[in-house]
Amino acid sequence: MGRIFTEHLQGRVFTCRLCGNHLASNLELISKSFHSRQGKAYLFNAVVNVLEGPKEERLMTTGLHEVADIHCKSCLQLCGWRYVMAHEENQKYKEGKFILERAKMMDLYEGNLASSSEATTVLGFPNEADEVCT
Ligand SMILES: [Zn+2]
Repeated sequence: MGRIFTEHLQGRVFTCRLCGNHLASNLELISKSFHSRQGKAYLFNAVVNVLEGPKEERLMTTGLHEVADIHCKSCLQLCGWRYVMAHEENQKYKEGKFILERAKMMDLYEGNLASSSEATTVLGFPNEADEVCT
Protein backbone atom coordinates (compact mmCIF):
# COMPACT_ATOMS: atom_id res chain seq x y z
CA MET A 1 0.00 0.00 0.00
CA GLY A 2 2.14 2.81 -1.26
CA ARG A 3 5.35 1.23 -0.02
CA ILE A 4 8.22 0.36 -2.31
CA PHE A 5 7.72 -3.30 -2.98
CA THR A 6 10.67 -5.53 -2.38
CA GLU A 7 10.50 -9.27 -2.44
CA HIS A 8 11.17 -10.96 0.87
CA LEU A 9 12.95 -14.30 0.64
CA GLN A 10 12.69 -17.18 3.06
CA GLY A 11 15.41 -19.36 4.53
CA ARG A 12 19.07 -18.65 4.02
CA VAL A 13 19.32 -15.34 2.24
CA PHE A 14 22.02 -13.09 0.87
CA THR A 15 21.28 -9.43 1.42
CA CYS A 16 22.69 -6.11 0.30
CA ARG A 17 25.54 -5.19 2.64
CA LEU A 18 24.54 -1.54 2.66
CA CYS A 19 20.80 -1.59 3.09
CA GLY A 20 19.76 -5.15 3.99
CA ASN A 21 17.65 -5.58 0.87
CA HIS A 22 17.19 -9.28 0.07
CA LEU A 23 19.11 -10.16 -3.09
CA ALA A 24 19.19 -13.93 -3.47
CA SER A 25 18.29 -17.19 -1.82
CA ASN A 26 20.90 -19.77 -1.00
CA LEU A 27 18.71 -22.21 -2.94
CA GLU A 28 19.55 -20.35 -6.14
CA LEU A 29 23.29 -20.46 -5.55
CA ILE A 30 25.13 -22.34 -8.28
CA SER A 31 28.79 -21.69 -7.57
CA LYS A 32 31.00 -19.81 -5.15
CA SER A 33 34.11 -20.16 -7.26
CA PHE A 34 33.86 -16.99 -9.30
CA HIS A 35 35.94 -13.89 -8.90
CA SER A 36 35.50 -10.29 -9.79
CA ARG A 37 37.94 -7.45 -9.54
CA GLN A 38 36.71 -6.90 -5.99
CA GLY A 39 37.31 -10.49 -4.92
CA LYS A 40 35.03 -13.44 -4.50
CA ALA A 41 31.80 -13.59 -6.43
CA TYR A 42 28.92 -16.07 -6.49
CA LEU A 43 26.89 -17.34 -9.42
CA PHE A 44 23.11 -17.52 -8.93
CA ASN A 45 20.21 -18.87 -10.97
CA ALA A 46 18.02 -16.02 -9.88
CA VAL A 47 18.20 -12.81 -7.89
CA VAL A 48 15.52 -10.40 -6.69
CA ASN A 49 15.17 -6.71 -5.95
CA VAL A 50 17.75 -5.53 -8.46
CA LEU A 51 17.78 -3.06 -11.29
CA GLU A 52 19.59 -3.92 -14.47
CA GLY A 53 21.83 -1.50 -16.34
CA PRO A 54 22.51 -1.35 -20.08
CA LYS A 55 23.97 -4.38 -21.81
CA GLU A 56 27.60 -4.23 -22.84
CA GLU A 57 30.33 -6.45 -24.18
CA ARG A 58 32.94 -7.27 -21.58
CA LEU A 59 36.11 -9.29 -21.92
CA MET A 60 36.66 -11.71 -19.06
CA THR A 61 39.27 -14.34 -18.45
CA THR A 62 36.86 -16.91 -19.87
CA GLY A 63 36.20 -14.94 -23.05
CA LEU A 64 33.96 -12.24 -24.38
CA HIS A 65 30.56 -11.92 -22.74
CA GLU A 66 27.59 -9.65 -23.12
CA VAL A 67 26.68 -8.61 -19.59
CA ALA A 68 24.49 -6.11 -17.79
CA ASP A 69 25.42 -4.68 -14.41
CA ILE A 70 22.89 -5.18 -11.64
CA HIS A 71 22.24 -2.73 -8.83
CA CYS A 72 20.41 -3.05 -5.54
CA LYS A 73 16.90 -1.73 -6.13
CA SER A 74 16.83 -0.11 -2.74
CA CYS A 75 20.19 1.70 -2.34
CA LEU A 76 21.39 1.41 -5.96
CA GLN A 77 24.87 0.13 -5.16
CA LEU A 78 26.45 -1.92 -7.92
CA CYS A 79 26.34 -5.51 -6.71
CA GLY A 80 27.17 -7.68 -9.68
CA TRP A 81 26.11 -8.46 -13.23
CA ARG A 82 23.95 -10.70 -15.34
CA TYR A 83 25.36 -12.79 -18.15
CA VAL A 84 23.25 -11.95 -21.16
CA MET A 85 25.24 -13.90 -23.72
CA ALA A 86 28.48 -15.85 -23.78
CA HIS A 87 30.42 -16.02 -27.02
CA GLU A 88 32.38 -19.14 -26.09
CA GLU A 89 30.44 -22.38 -26.49
CA ASN A 90 31.69 -23.81 -23.20
CA GLN A 91 30.55 -20.69 -21.30
CA LYS A 92 26.95 -20.82 -22.51
CA TYR A 93 25.76 -22.32 -19.24
CA LYS A 94 26.18 -18.90 -17.65
CA GLU A 95 23.69 -17.17 -19.92
CA GLY A 96 20.81 -15.69 -17.99
CA LYS A 97 22.60 -16.31 -14.68
CA PHE A 98 23.65 -13.68 -12.17
CA ILE A 99 26.89 -12.80 -10.43
CA LEU A 100 26.74 -11.15 -7.01
CA GLU A 101 29.98 -9.94 -5.53
CA ARG A 102 30.65 -11.36 -2.09
CA ALA A 103 31.94 -8.02 -0.80
CA LYS A 104 28.64 -6.34 -1.69
CA MET A 105 26.39 -8.65 0.27
CA MET A 106 25.83 -10.22 3.65
CA ASP A 107 25.00 -13.81 4.35
CA LEU A 108 22.12 -13.49 6.81
CA TYR A 109 23.18 -16.70 8.50
CA GLU A 110 26.76 -15.58 8.84
CA GLY A 111 27.83 -16.05 12.43
CA ASN A 112 24.63 -17.85 13.34
CA LEU A 113 25.42 -21.19 11.88
CA ALA A 114 29.17 -20.93 12.25
CA SER A 115 30.69 -23.54 10.01
CA SER A 116 27.84 -26.00 10.25
CA SER A 117 26.31 -25.53 6.86
CA GLU A 118 28.51 -24.23 4.13
CA ALA A 119 26.35 -24.30 1.06
CA THR A 120 26.79 -27.20 -1.25
CA THR A 121 27.92 -25.75 -4.50
CA VAL A 122 28.36 -26.57 -8.12
CA LEU A 123 25.82 -28.75 -9.83
CA GLY A 124 28.05 -30.33 -12.40
CA PHE A 125 29.27 -27.04 -13.74
CA PRO A 126 32.93 -26.59 -14.49
CA ASN A 127 34.83 -25.02 -11.68
CA GLU A 128 35.52 -21.46 -12.50
CA ALA A 129 38.68 -20.51 -10.72
CA ASP A 130 39.29 -17.17 -12.17
CA GLU A 131 36.49 -15.09 -13.63
CA VAL A 132 37.97 -11.64 -13.70
CA CYS A 133 36.32 -8.71 -15.25
CA THR A 134 38.82 -6.63 -17.15
ZN1 LIG B 1 21.10 -2.02 -1.07
